[in-house]
Amino acid sequence: MTRAEPLSECALCPRLVAFREQNQASFADWFNAPVPSFGDETARLAVVGLAPGLRGANRTGRPFTGDYAGHLLYSTLIKFGFAEGEYAERVDDGLKLKDCLITNAVRCVPPENKPLTAEIKSCRTYLAARLCAMPNLQAIVMLGRIAHDSTLHALKLKLAAHKFGHGAVHRPPDMPALFDSYHCSRYNTNTGALTTAMFEAVFSAVRSELR
Ligand code: SF4
Repeated sequence: MTRAEPLSECALCPRLVAFREQNQASFADWFNAPVPSFGDETARLAVVGLAPGLRGANRTGRPFTGDYAGHLLYSTLIKFGFAEGEYAERVDDGLKLKDCLITNAVRCVPPENKPLTAEIKSCRTYLAARLCAMPNLQAIVMLGRIAHDSTLHALKLKLAAHKFGHGAVHRPPDMPALFDSYHCSRYNTNTGALTTAMFEAVFSAVRSELR
């Protein structure tokens, strides 16, 4: 059975391994490895992102930590009771997740934040194992289309029957409820594609689901 968390030397994606080695040479004090999930696998909620940011999770070793995207995600999780403490862009900021686990569709940083289809597929074995190893899982938030598509594939669900759209909720039988959101990237928030209110509406719906 596939492990839910890849080994630090996972070599399934040659391009990403080469990028990792390049970053190890350039930034020796950075994490520069597959970023493990953050949170407890007994959680009822899983949040699936895209991939580590170069100077974010790839630098710090914790999903959505160290760059812009974490600000909106963690403040929203705190607001709806899925985290406590304060997010300060550091792994030692004391932030704790509550009933929530955060993972990524692709665990290694891709150049320009763009994983290839083959890389998404390779890393899906870990995503599927991660979700499968959450015994209490009742809800999944998928941040962006790549996270949406890869999660659906991981759960062996048809994309055509579960179309991505911000705020969409999918309820496949005998499975966790699936919540779509635009990714909380700086680009999406700067362009207004995703507002704080839009993002909070998704987690408000999740909180209603997980009373
Ligand atoms: Fe392995 Fe995933 Fe990294 Fe590819 S992206 S090398 S499958 S951990």
